[in-house]
Amino acid sequence: MAAALTDPEYGYYMGRDPLGASGDFITAPEVSQMFGELIGLWCAEGWQAVGAPPQVALVELGPGRGTLMADARRAARQVPAFAAALRVHLVEVSPTLRARQEAALADAEPTWHETLAGVPELPLLLIANEFFDALPVRQLVKQPGGWAERLVGLAAGGAPALAFTLSPPDPGLGALVPDALRAAPPGRLFEVSPAGQEIVRAIARRLRSHGGAALIIDYGHEESALGETLQAVRRHARHDVLSEPGTADLTCHVDFAALARAAREEGAAAHGPVAQGAFLERLGIAARAARLMERATPPQREDIRSARLRLTAPDQMGGLFKVLALTPEGAGPPAGFH
Ligand code: SAH
Repeated sequence: MAAALTDPEYGYYMGRDPLGASGDFITAPEVSQMFGELIGLWCAEGWQAVGAPPQVALVELGPGRGTLMADARRAARQVPAFAAALRVHLVEVSPTLRARQEAALADAEPTWHETLAGVPELPLLLIANEFFDALPVRQLVKQPGGWAERLVGLAAGGAPALAFTLSPPDPGLGALVPDALRAAPPGRLFEVSPAGQEIVRAIARRLRSHGGAALIIDYGHEESALGETLQAVRRHARHDVLSEPGTADLTCHVDFAALARAAREEGAAAHGPVAQGAFLERLGIAARAARLMERATPPQREDIRSARLRLTAPDQMGGLFKVLALTPEGAGPPAGFH
């Protein structure tokens, strides 16, 4: 999965911009400016909550076209001292998307990093929208003899093609499955993202030592659960996960409970997850939409209305997407979580 997405030569993200109507999928910041603006104000509040430090790292993991960050910074100007304190740091592997981000954020003078490790040690406000779903998972399959791992190999005979295969059962794999699911019947599958948990641990350690808050937004489940969610998407339609690797987006649902556990193990507090719709309503999307409509033409008003619905309706992104916040232990729930 990591190779298919981020191989320097053939990785899906490396040589293309997959976003938008003409691409493969659309994300919330591309639906409406309201999304990034409300998150920018959430960050301003988070900055005040940590005592308004003179410098704060505003970090985005996987910023795509840079749209969310551009909208967030524009909204942040409403709190000029915050706008002056923030330093934009972008964690991005794709040279193609880095170029898009550079164009969208030229006046922000962002700094790019391969991983969070390169970001300076400062109080931290971190955003990750549709980032964790792109991190590789391991798929564990229960066998009569214990947990085995689903692997990718070459299909036997015929033209070269990829095929799934199974490792022998290995007692070490069971340790990756939460206690409550370990007794699953043979045939059931569990997905775990060690890469996602490792990144959350790194965020949690920074929050503990420097203060701040992180916001993880993605589709996924609140509780760790059995079942396969790995899927490939190309031009807004499902695609076979093993055919033409590197030409389709590969994603998995995010296991928010596993991320929250990883954060707590490192001494951070996890808040939520809450549904994206409820989160945006609490941050004031209704007022923001009304404000935008005041200056809009009738067709623009219709766009604003439908974008708000798409972002918040329980049967659309509003229910499918969830928001998890991380703070240092002992900090109260941030805006949108109470
Ligand atoms: N957050 C954006 C884009 C989501 S697509 C939005 O909401 O529109 C996923 C983003 O994560 C892309 O920018 C992709 O290049 C980046 N990405 C994927 N895997 C990554 C990795 N392992 N390290 C850093 N960035 C990664």
